[in-house]
Amino acid sequence: MKSVGKRYTFLAGLGAGVALSVGLALLMAASTTEEISPVKARSLDVYVPNTEDLAPDEMRVIACGTGMPTQRMAQAAACFLVELGNGDKFIFDIGSGAAERISALQIPYDYLDKIFIGHLHGDHFGSIGEMFIGGMIMGRHVPLRIWGPSGPTPELGTKYAIEHMREMYTWDVAGRLGMTDTRGFQLEVNEFDYTGVNEIIYQENGVTIRSWPAVHAIDGPVSFSLEWKGLKFVFSSDTYPNKWFVEYAKNADLAIHECFIAVPSLVTKMGFTPEAALMVGTQIHTAPEAFGKVMSTIKPRHAIAYHFFKDFDTTAPVYERIRTTYDGPLSLAEDFMVWNVTKEGVRERMALVEEHTWAPPLASPASLKAAYQAPSADHSSP
Ligand SMILES: [Zn+2]
Ligand SMILES: [Zn+2]
Repeated sequence: MKSVGKRYTFLAGLGAGVALSVGLALLMAASTTEEISPVKARSLDVYVPNTEDLAPDEMRVIACGTGMPTQRMAQAAACFLVELGNGDKFIFDIGSGAAERISALQIPYDYLDKIFIGHLHGDHFGSIGEMFIGGMIMGRHVPLRIWGPSGPTPELGTKYAIEHMREMYTWDVAGRLGMTDTRGFQLEVNEFDYTGVNEIIYQENGVTIRSWPAVHAIDGPVSFSLEWKGLKFVFSSDTYPNKWFVEYAKNADLAIHECFIAVPSLVTKMGFTPEAALMVGTQIHTAPEAFGKVMSTIKPRHAIAYHFFKDFDTTAPVYERIRTTYDGPLSLAEDFMVWNVTKEGVRERMALVEEHTWAPPLASPASLKAAYQAPSADHSSP
């Protein structure tokens, strides 16, 4: 079925002919002038966290970071949350600034325990420490589970990075003992072979996640697919266009691929020399035209470009360049963009979030006893 930006569902009414969904009814109401009123409430086409059930066969993806390696208020670095109708939630990359976006969704932290890191650039895992410490304080009572690639040498792998992050927080963890439930201070690191091609790295509860090599900076980066109930999500993390992505991202319902800012913008906005802009914008990363070529090859139901600062003067060049090579369904991602994915279609909206958030409700009760126990040993894959 063709992917559309907004999906309205027709429901068969019992004995009353055909009833229209609320969305369609509101759309019709909005189109008739007699319903326009200075006092009547109007519906907004936005996603307000925790106000919608997820159907048993529905996937919801929320952009929690879409920016670049440098920091900005408007866009955190790479991070996408995937929520499934079976209750599972997965975080793909957790770049700097992403933890605040995740907190705004007010999801109990026990459910945010699975993080997949595509590579170890700070803009793809810089918020891991905040999820480790802050997530525990905000109510995570289960270990934080992390999946990430090995490297060409042990110290270039995920296990090394996370174990040393844990060491960095030695004083932090020691200083909280006796004051808070510390069960969430445990880490489970699952380092997998970065050279694996479409290898299964996670398979639980009907969800299969695979990885394949990405081409980016030095050896180690990977891209991911998640398959569940006939739906397929793919996420490139960072990569130059490559044969593996083109092969294994096929049949994706939602295909998220990096798309860097256009080369002239790298020169004018970021002060790159033309030579450096060409190298970074077309070789280390994927240029907009190349992003379009990837998507016109794999033909996803919906393509999502991320990894550029989306501004009044950068968006049009990125869009126009993509459209020289791809004319299918497309989103230029920004933080808090939301996609509901079902067999019927893809619905895209923005989330409307509360910025002044506190800890979300607890999914499991805090234990006073656990506050006085040193966290047990972390678990790491061999
Ligand atoms: Zn990178
Ligand atoms: Zn990056």
